[in-house]
Amino acid sequence: MENYQLRIAHLYGDLMNTYGDYGNVIAIKYYAKQIQVETDYHLISLGDSFKADDYDFVIFGGGQDYEESVTAKDLPSKSDEIKKYIENNDSLLAVCGGFQLLGTTMEFANGKIINGIGAMSHHTVNLNSSELFDNMRGKRLIGNIQIKNNESGETYHGFENHQGRTFLGKGEKALGTVVSGNGNNGDDKTEGVIYKQVYGTYFHGPILTRNGNLAKRILKNALLKRYPDIDWQAKLDGIPTESF
Ligand code: GLN
Repeated sequence: MENYQLRIAHLYGDLMNTYGDYGNVIAIKYYAKQIQVETDYHLISLGDSFKADDYDFVIFGGGQDYEESVTAKDLPSKSDEIKKYIENNDSLLAVCGGFQLLGTTMEFANGKIINGIGAMSHHTVNLNSSELFDNMRGKRLIGNIQIKNNESGETYHGFENHQGRTFLGKGEKALGTVVSGNGNNGDDKTEGVIYKQVYGTYFHGPILTRNGNLAKRILKNALLKRYPDIDWQAKLDGIPTESF
């Protein structure tokens, strides 16, 4: 039997890993193992090189403002390769701070605005921004959240905890429409993003352990990119979908 392999890069996994975002890696490995796919995990942090062609799945987790500001200073050294990876239709999951930093700009709680890498068109403001409706100003967005992706019909459950408010831009679709909770900004009922094979979200929990349907979808996309002739959907349909 041929050996199939999924090469995983965890961007800044030692800095950007709030609320157990590493659990998303565990979920991907869990499903991969059951369909006889080996995984190869690499932590890519400050000063490390990242090459787009070396990976099949990238995770970029969340962090508080301080960790995000440290990460933002290192990101320009990797941004060309991250953009190449994304534009090449490779699979990436970005959570909270990681999601914010892939966009154009990010405003911290102290009002300071920094550049994201601009790989995607969303931007993030903070809790006192004039872009927000009055009733959403001054509140941190915390609590259980449920969203529905209208294309797939899938519902995702999670927990959000963020101050940044993200507004999607050109070419971006929401991961889902908010059923309950706040989502990207508390105003427009969008949660997360889908752009090419990038999935972004504010869900912790982590999203892929609680939502096995999404874990399988992302794993399928990543494997299809590397091994297009295999019916990964059938293989994944043959194993149970978990919600831990
Ligand atoms: N510092 C960011 C915010 O509060 C991200 C938080 C997070 O990743 N949990 O919006």
